[in-house]
Amino acid sequence: MKKVALVTGGAKGIGAATVKKLCEDGYAVAINYNTSEQRALSLCSFCASEGFTAISVKCDVSVSSDVEKMFSQIEEKLGTVELLVNNAGVSLWGLFDTVTDEEWNNVIGTNLTGTFNCIRRAIPSMLKNKYGRIINISSVWGQEGASCEAVYSASKAGIIGLTKALAKEYAPSGITVNCLCPGVIDTEMMSRFSDEEKAAICEEIPVGRMGTPEEIAHAVSFLADKNSAYITGQILGINGGMI
Ligand code: NAP
Repeated sequence: MKKVALVTGGAKGIGAATVKKLCEDGYAVAINYNTSEQRALSLCSFCASEGFTAISVKCDVSVSSDVEKMFSQIEEKLGTVELLVNNAGVSLWGLFDTVTDEEWNNVIGTNLTGTFNCIRRAIPSMLKNKYGRIINISSVWGQEGASCEAVYSASKAGIIGLTKALAKEYAPSGITVNCLCPGVIDTEMMSRFSDEEKAAICEEIPVGRMGTPEEIAHAVSFLADKNSAYITGQILGINGGMI
């Protein structure tokens, strides 16, 4: 039986690169999507064509009953989740005093409550197995705070706090909880910026370019490894030297 991983928001961007890397590492992977059904299906077909095991599962991670259904489907089709990658996320750009209740609830609901919902559902079987790997995708802005991205920064800072606390709570049970803080990564999340704006952003990055989704997937793979058992509660920046 293959070990089972769940990647939330796995149909595109950082999530899709992570799905491919974890398949190569020997996991059976559940690809969660919310709106990108076609992309999840074609990623599944790609994985199958490479001889990997992957399924797609629809779920809005901000809704706990949806998360419950998603885990039940994964358990039925693949087995219990031993690696959870909380990658699903939304961004929001604008002046803080213009933020609506709906926008606040959407960003906090997806990024922070979504992470909470998935971890809470994954933990009981990890405790039973005395083994688990949880990797949360935060952001450099969760570490530093970004102007005009206060709600996003707050949601990602919450993920950092959750990571540190849960790492302590579950360390005695063989479960590691770590957090990645990507800097500027070349995905659709950056699509609101023009090429000129992206070039200006890159000038501020010591490495001189945006990161790739594969570079984040590489770090997920490292932290997921069974030999990474002594690494927990860590907040790893992958930002080309930004901070
Ligand atoms: P992306 O291409 O926009 O992907 C976002 C993913 O989140 C999509 O797969 C989307 O799924 C999923 N998602 C959004 N709301 C969801 C919900 N309610 N339930 C389930 N899935 C949901 O962006 P990305 O850059 O790959 O972002 C991945 C993660 O990295 C995010 O947490 C983001 O905050 C973080 N990050 C990105 C950067 C960057 O520069 N790109 C930097 C730091 C951190 P559907 O398309 O199926 O709706």
